[in-house]
Amino acid sequence: MAGADTDLIAGLDPEQLAAVRAPRGPVCVLAGAGTGKTRTIVSRIAHLIGSGHVTAGQVLAVTFTARAAGEMRTRLRAMGVPGAQARTFHSAALRQLRYFWPRVVGDAQWDLVETKLRLVGQAAHRAGTGTEREALRDLASEIEWAKASLIAPEDYPAAAARVRRDTPAAPELVAKVYAGYEAVKNAARQLDFDDLLLHTAAALEEHSEVAEEFRDRYRSFVVDEYQDVTPLQQRVLDAWLGRRDDLTVVGDANQTIYSFAGASPRPLLDFTRRFPEAAVIRLERDYRSTPEVVSLANRVISAARDRPAGSRLRLVGQRPAGPEPRYAEYDDEPAEATAVAARVKELAEAGTPLSEIAVLYRINAQSEVYEQALTELEIPYLVRGGERFFARQEIRQAVAALRTAAFNAPEGELPAVVRSALAPVGLTEEPPTGGSAREKWGSLLALVELAEELAAADPDADLPRYVAELDQRAQAQHPPTVEGVTLASLHAAKGLEWDAVFLVGLVDGTLPIQHADGDDAAIEEERRLLYVGVTRAREHLSLSWALARTEGGKRYRRRSRFLYGLIPENHPTARVAASRQREMPRQAMARGMNPVRYCRVCGDKLVGTMPVKLGRCESCPSDLDEGLLEKLREWRMERSRGLKVPAYVI
Ligand code: ATP
Ligand code: MG
Repeated sequence: MAGADTDLIAGLDPEQLAAVRAPRGPVCVLAGAGTGKTRTIVSRIAHLIGSGHVTAGQVLAVTFTARAAGEMRTRLRAMGVPGAQARTFHSAALRQLRYFWPRVVGDAQWDLVETKLRLVGQAAHRAGTGTEREALRDLASEIEWAKASLIAPEDYPAAAARVRRDTPAAPELVAKVYAGYEAVKNAARQLDFDDLLLHTAAALEEHSEVAEEFRDRYRSFVVDEYQDVTPLQQRVLDAWLGRRDDLTVVGDANQTIYSFAGASPRPLLDFTRRFPEAAVIRLERDYRSTPEVVSLANRVISAARDRPAGSRLRLVGQRPAGPEPRYAEYDDEPAEATAVAARVKELAEAGTPLSEIAVLYRINAQSEVYEQALTELEIPYLVRGGERFFARQEIRQAVAALRTAAFNAPEGELPAVVRSALAPVGLTEEPPTGGSAREKWGSLLALVELAEELAAADPDADLPRYVAELDQRAQAQHPPTVEGVTLASLHAAKGLEWDAVFLVGLVDGTLPIQHADGDDAAIEEERRLLYVGVTRAREHLSLSWALARTEGGKRYRRRSRFLYGLIPENHPTARVAASRQREMPRQAMARGMNPVRYCRVCGDKLVGTMPVKLGRCESCPSDLDEGLLEKLREWRMERSRGLKVPAYVI
């Protein structure tokens, strides 16, 4: 056993080792991105099992995305510890509910909500409000926020006022839609994702025999990415724990990116208040990224305002030096995408595997232009985290074929069964040539790989179980892995890493997102998203932006305010961008910036009551064209005298 344990902990640094070897009980690892938090907890699980403290079946590890949970399982298997459960909160809850449901609720059949927007639409209609898709989406997210924050419909208006929430409609109206949604959903005997967690917590809180059985089964709990826990998830965790304290949490408050959805780093930062005897371990060595990337990450996050104590860690790069991050500005988005695709090709030709390259953006709608550019160069890719994977025609056909096959129950080896069910919808043995055909083939193959993963984790998994997994993934929009370049939103990239990362579309209005303007907390969350993005890169990192959305479009966008002060002063891009600011039409100023409250140059909020000098903040690059500032001064004087000013200002 000693030999096996040495293997599990080989290569860990002293702090990581301390976390791995801490006795059973509360353990908290507070550390920055890439410091080995996930690796440490996986090693801790392996160590606890390997040293006989718990059996694999008694451990429950939870995290927030299916991909991250899958990676944990893969790493545990690689360490020779199969059987420990690593799941998302939702999938753990779903599994437990399936088991307890008859005892808690009875025989009645309940289904997972499939068309949430339709239910919200019915509720909105009854409440007498608009039912356009966009409005329904906003209402649905607001209901999710309320449920994740444990706020009942009747308490919603007061709670929204207390946290100064930017509500999508009058708070009383949102509350009405929320109550109506619950009513129509329950009448249809459907459960949404939040209900899975609510019912799980309630089952354990209200049924002591259920709680006893559960607590007898699971003895040790581990939570990765704990900075993004919601009050609802915390309640489930508390219900799991009962009075026990065998809980290991790891997180990085600087990576809190879901507070818009109710997540909060408070439970992480207040962990020792709750468990005063907890072992607290801090990690600072960054093993993921080159010093160049680490240095940029440190600069991004040190600009953050109001960093809570416990999150002020500085990363120290451990890897050998690598290339400097690249910065590039383009005239329009298609030009940006074409250049990124060309660079991807270059990296691939130089030996970087495609699965080690990612293009990350703020919103899923940005993926399209990259899909086109990559297809043109015949580079396979996978759009992660969007609805797209499951919306693709070949995937819809594949799922239908698999459902039929599951009905006919050929009960054979799962991957082989899936493969043969997919042959009629286009899964050939050999990959076809040609960008889009190959891409379709790649997504079908991903379904087979998912079957392989499932079969490895659970040798009894059959086709109906596999189809259930697919349904669950479609609900959660977690597509399986495909060999190819990853296209993902920054949110979906959390916890992951690639050799080469392209952070694209870094313009004001996109990152930070437009609706964050004027809300300091929201702007800070956007900054943390950039930090998450930067810290995904092991070696190559590129940051780019485009001044217009469409080819030949008017230039009306500006690079992200977060980039000012980050780009080295003598960097050529910085100058190009600064001079181009002249061409920015006036409505851009009107759109995003109030001249009194925001810096005229970078759009950052000004501190103090009056704009410093010409409304320019201290973090702007010092090499700004003085002539330009002079012009601005003149224009402002002319305007104050009622004269017409040029159609554009900086
Ligand atoms: P994030 O905050 O982004 O989730 P993390 O802290 O969880 O990051 P990991 O993903 O566990 O970091 O580790 C980052 C990378 O560093 C991984 O490739 C991991 O294998 C490697 N790594 C971690 N610890 C060590 C170590 N002691 N020696 C060498 N490599 C390490
Ligand atoms: Mg991690």
